[in-house]
Amino acid sequence: LRPEVMNVGESLSELTLLLKRLLGERVDLELKHGRDIWPVKADVNQFEQVIVNLVVNARDAMPNGGRLLVRTANVPSQSEAEARGGAPAGDHVLIEVLDTGEGIPPELMEKIFEPFFTTKDIGKGTGLGLSTVFGIVKQSGGTIDVQSTVGEGTAFRIYLPRHEPAE
Ligand code: ADP
Ligand code: MG
Repeated sequence: LRPEVMNVGESLSELTLLLKRLLGERVDLELKHGRDIWPVKADVNQFEQVIVNLVVNARDAMPNGGRLLVRTANVPSQSEAEARGGAPAGDHVLIEVLDTGEGIPPELMEKIFEPFFTTKDIGKGTGLGLSTVFGIVKQSGGTIDVQSTVGEGTAFRIYLPRHEPAE
């Protein structure tokens, strides 16, 4: 684990080709980066693992194709999202992964982050993806939340604390 000061927008741009290959031709990938995204302190390889896991899950949820949006934004302290309780307190960088897939039934929502929980056929899923994601995000001091509507799609939101350089 080697946390360093990194830019999530740059890291995502570098991953674009890999993500496109993972998604195949039937899924439309859109990357939307906010301007001047704040730096965060995280292990780049682990960050990539997080993104790849979320993107593979999104792909699996869209067997007939669909759209995937990966978005980054600065979420300042005292923002609207924070006031709504959607974002943690303090300055954060948001990484959002939105798909138009099958969605997650409400009764499964609390299980998806558990290790080995999978709804996929044998050989298609280990159930370790989201528990890994959760662990990495937590280790980086961040939070993750998910919103989903069956038949419409799923949104994963990761908030990583802004890295404030020491004076
Ligand atoms: P795996 O992908 O090996 O099944 P994960 O931990 O990555 O394990 O995901 C656990 C479960 O959460 C999946 O089997 C699936 O039921 C559900 N899931 C995760 N991401 C999505 C998504 N984007 N859309 C629909 N369901 C999802
Ligand atoms: Mg997975």
